[in-house]
Amino acid sequence: MEMQYNNLGKSGLQISRLSLGSWLTFGKQISDDTAEALMDYAYEQGINFFDNAEIYARGKSEEVMGAILKKKNWSRDSYIVSSKAFFGTGGEWPTQKGLSRKHLVEACEQALKRFQLDYLDLYYCHRPDKKTPIEETVWTMHQLIMQGKILYWGTSEWSAQEIMEAHLFAKQNHLIGPVVEQPEYNMFTREKVEVEFSQIYQTVGLGTTIWSPLASGILSGKYNDQFPDGTRLGMEGLEWLKEKNLTAARIQSVLSLTELAKELGLSLPVMSLAWCLKNPNVSTVILGASKLVQLEENMKALSAQSLLSPDVMQRIEEILQNKPQFPPY
Ligand code: NDP
Repeated sequence: MEMQYNNLGKSGLQISRLSLGSWLTFGKQISDDTAEALMDYAYEQGINFFDNAEIYARGKSEEVMGAILKKKNWSRDSYIVSSKAFFGTGGEWPTQKGLSRKHLVEACEQALKRFQLDYLDLYYCHRPDKKTPIEETVWTMHQLIMQGKILYWGTSEWSAQEIMEAHLFAKQNHLIGPVVEQPEYNMFTREKVEVEFSQIYQTVGLGTTIWSPLASGILSGKYNDQFPDGTRLGMEGLEWLKEKNLTAARIQSVLSLTELAKELGLSLPVMSLAWCLKNPNVSTVILGASKLVQLEENMKALSAQSLLSPDVMQRIEEILQNKPQFPPY
């Protein structure tokens, strides 16, 4: 199926509904050759957004992605590349993290060097920073846009209130506000995307680039029977991620979801990704993959959307039993 594109929120930026991220894979879990094969295939399929951050493999993920972009020599106006600042690249000094003007300006400069790019299309504030006034962050992002170093900016894991504060300050001062939020969204994590942000999709035209659509691989079904070798949740140092994602209750749901997917003639990852795509407030689903075959499979989510009828969506709700509720009147 042909790639679909839509506006990123109310911005004019046309983004592919599926995109490719690099967390834990580029510069870490996978070889640079595999990273190249993934990007090659993604681009061939019409994916135009590649997601990154300063903290991913402590800067190495951006270096690997940048080297691939350079080698491929794709027209710079055909793709969107992002970075995110907040966590730093491992430095311990207090000025090496956060959303202060100092860190944002320096982190942007450093990311551009690692990528070997002149500008980033999208630049994210990777988390809210309680130690920096939102005004300073908004001014800095606006100025980075004015300097031509970034084209659009957004937030990741900010609350609706924080996003609105940024918007109000930007509006009052005729500055450019954030166009996008990057939240976690999958069948197990739904509250922010489905309830908390519900008003601001309309009011400020918020776009979303959602992460961990397969809950780090749980929603592929491969953890159903036994713990497989060589997967993300077995990686050293990621015990916290395993604890968060691999729970008995989730596996119970995944077993039932696997049955339903089978009935529809789909693999579970494809059904799970199509479920994310069905949400009209999801601008793009960021895919992660450690192997090319995973990405090839996951691309089928675009065409699978049509199989997720209202009846199927209802059956998924009955399995999940976690539909976030709006506060009662
Ligand atoms: P997923 O939840 O989809 O997990 C991807 C992982 O699941 C793969 O690396 C692979 O891991 C496994 N997998 C994927 N497809 C299949 C398949 N078909 N069959 C079996 N296993 C499969 O997404 P990510 O957590 O990777 O998130 C996507 C992107 O979102 C990231 O790359 C990053 O760019 C962004 N992100 C942003 C965050 C933020 O705070 N803003 C936080 C986290 C991610 P394996 O083979 O090792 O099991």
